[in-house]
Amino acid sequence: MMGADSPSPERLRSRCCIVGGGPAGMMLGFLLARAGIELVVLEKHADFLRDFRGDTLHPSTLESMSELGLLEELLKRPHQKVSKVRARIGGEDILLGEMSYLRTRCRFMALMPQWDFLDFLAQQGRRYPTFHLRMQAEVTGLIEENGRIVGIRGSTPAGPVEVRADLVVGADGRNSVVRACSGLPVQEVGTPMDVMWMRLSKRAEDPDLFVSSDRTKALVLLDRGSYWQCGLPFPKGTAAELRAKGIEALRGNIASLAPFLRDRVGELRDWDDVKLLTVRVDRLRQWYRPGLVCIGDAAHAMSPVGGVGINLAIQDAVAAANVLAGPLLESAVGVGHLARIQRRREFPTRFTQSMQSLIRRQIAGGLGSAGPPKQLPWPVRLLERTTLPRRARTRFIGVGIRPEHVKTPDVNK
Ligand SMILES: Cc1cc2nc3c(=O)[nH]c(=O)nc-3n(C[C@H](O)[C@H](O)[C@H](O)COP(=O)(O)OP(=O)(O)OC[C@H]3O[C@@H](n4cnc5c(N)ncnc54)[C@H](O)[C@@H]3O)c2cc1C
Repeated sequence: MMGADSPSPERLRSRCCIVGGGPAGMMLGFLLARAGIELVVLEKHADFLRDFRGDTLHPSTLESMSELGLLEELLKRPHQKVSKVRARIGGEDILLGEMSYLRTRCRFMALMPQWDFLDFLAQQGRRYPTFHLRMQAEVTGLIEENGRIVGIRGSTPAGPVEVRADLVVGADGRNSVVRACSGLPVQEVGTPMDVMWMRLSKRAEDPDLFVSSDRTKALVLLDRGSYWQCGLPFPKGTAAELRAKGIEALRGNIASLAPFLRDRVGELRDWDDVKLLTVRVDRLRQWYRPGLVCIGDAAHAMSPVGGVGINLAIQDAVAAANVLAGPLLESAVGVGHLARIQRRREFPTRFTQSMQSLIRRQIAGGLGSAGPPKQLPWPVRLLERTTLPRRARTRFIGVGIRPEHVKTPDVNK
């Protein structure tokens, strides 16, 4: 990447400019740098340290890390292994996922703080001289010439910046600025919920539940070693109403869903201990324009159900790198290459969003409805006695649809 003479704005040139240092952007950046392509990743935050970003690395992501020869190194970072995903739904104990069914190298999900994972990718990326990561670089607009996107405008603490590139990749998540500036048409899928996240301490004797639901309320429980990361979905637009009922009502909800937490719900002192995350589900009808492609949540915002969003973002990055590495090296990226990425990844996205919606209805069908807890419908209970739904869910959660394999080369080898 070359600096230019004009001090303001700072002008840079690169083969590829990736907007957003989340799972999609960092993985794509690493893969392209590994293939010898000059690129810059622009991330608006100063670090990766944000709490309650999804922290689930599924077998499909671990498989990609294994294909890259980085699995052992990655797993040296602190993580918890989850191989059975258990739920209590409408009084029924259900095994949502049993990773031993899978044929992947890792038959478990690794719960690793997302900042550790992103930091790991940054560290691996820096082994390649063509990898440039600019933190605190917030993209505010696109540069368009003759109907083609040729770069981005942004701001850094040092002042404005412009990056010109053969290709801009929007990997800036569900509130993507790139997507908004591109004018690409969005299809809202809609989701009737948001989520409150909080931490409660964990004890050795606690059950290893992942979800507890009475089908009018649900609690997601992620084992983070010394604490539970708890997620309480609630009907969209009712946060103010819930707050008005007071923190005591929230503590009561948690205790009724997971009675083993009753003795520590007091750790939630007030609403400052509760983080509200809004959920949005949508997808672009077209993921690209000449000079621009979106991947990850920027192309398709995912709901937290099944915790599969990160993995879908990683799979998008692997697929995009497989398609783009050759043409980027030759400065020959055409719309046909970008269309190929959408063709490859659109079906997994649609299918995953539909499955998320189905699972949400099964687990918390009457979310927010008044009245007594609801049992699972009898056909579902009957089906649960067979391994069929368990195997299907395990594959969906662990591997997803149309898993991608790393095909890009490593210039260091
Ligand atoms: C409440 C909730 C819980 C979730 N829990 C899970 C879970 O447990 N497991 C899971 O797999 N998925 C989970 N998901 C989904 C998951 O978070 C996303 O699908 C996944 O993070 C998408 O990755 P991404 O890289 O596309 O986008 P993101 O992770 O959103 O990353 C985008 C990056 O771009 C940066 N950025 C944004 N705008 C700009 C800009 N203008 N300029 C520069 N940088 C910018 C952001 O700071 C961020 O680092 C959850 C989603 C929600 C809403």
